[in-house]
Amino acid sequence: MKSLRECIAEASEKKVAIGHFNISNLEALWGIFRAAQGLNVPVIIGVSEGERDFVGVKQAAALVKSIREEYQYPIFLNADHTYSFERVKEAIDAGFDSVIFDGAKLSFKENVIIAKQCVDYARSSGREVLIEGELGFIGTSSKILDEVPEGVMLDESSLTNPEKAKEFVLATGVDMLAPAVGNFHGMLRGGIDPKLNIERIKEISSAVGIPLVLHGGSGNSEDDFKQAIANGVNIVHINTEIRVAYRDAVKKSLQDDPEEVAPYKFLKPGVKAVQDVVTAKLRFFNNL
Ligand SMILES: [Zn+2]
Repeated sequence: MKSLRECIAEASEKKVAIGHFNISNLEALWGIFRAAQGLNVPVIIGVSEGERDFVGVKQAAALVKSIREEYQYPIFLNADHTYSFERVKEAIDAGFDSVIFDGAKLSFKENVIIAKQCVDYARSSGREVLIEGELGFIGTSSKILDEVPEGVMLDESSLTNPEKAKEFVLATGVDMLAPAVGNFHGMLRGGIDPKLNIERIKEISSAVGIPLVLHGGSGNSEDDFKQAIANGVNIVHINTEIRVAYRDAVKKSLQDDPEEVAPYKFLKPGVKAVQDVVTAKLRFFNNL
């Protein structure tokens, strides 16, 4: 079976992107897996620190591994935004396939030091674990927002600088980089998020020479995705849109049948809603 590194290399060659979707429970995991399986494309499951605390770090690893082995399927597990070396180590020790060290709020120097420490630990783990670094602030919320979050400035001077990105990648040895290119976490209420800076994506991609990861994909337009993927983005993160679909479906299910008490019955529409959103995204990211 292909490794995550091989799947990313293949995506880069084909100029497509692998979808990364977050979960907080087993329902979302099944919805995402069924969507990927239906299209026969690799997929990455993400768990943030909060989601990891809720699901269980080792439990998340065991769940994804169980599907990978039973179905012989390229489904991978990523520790999404991880803010300390200790938690990076915990995820690597638990068997995650990749980890994001998010030092975007630290000084450049501190970000480099800890990201490098994470890369060294991953290389010494005896398994292939990929490390993603982050440079440039893109907000921290996976909600529906009324306005662009504070600190996420969308003018060019606050986007990730290509030269700095190159310096960061050379100094740390990270496998992938999440830049700030006009993207932010969460999505705006009632509309499409502001446009991505495609030119900047292109410049960063050619400066660093490693795959770029686009965070905060919920709310961006299809045209933006298409151009971002054509210019060096090989993984796209979607979280908020899945959360909204799941919440709405479960809410409707409970309203439609207030007498139902079996969770496997009233949660079923939630699984289907996640599957539908993820199928649409995967089709698009994979040019299908
Ligand atoms: Zn993110």
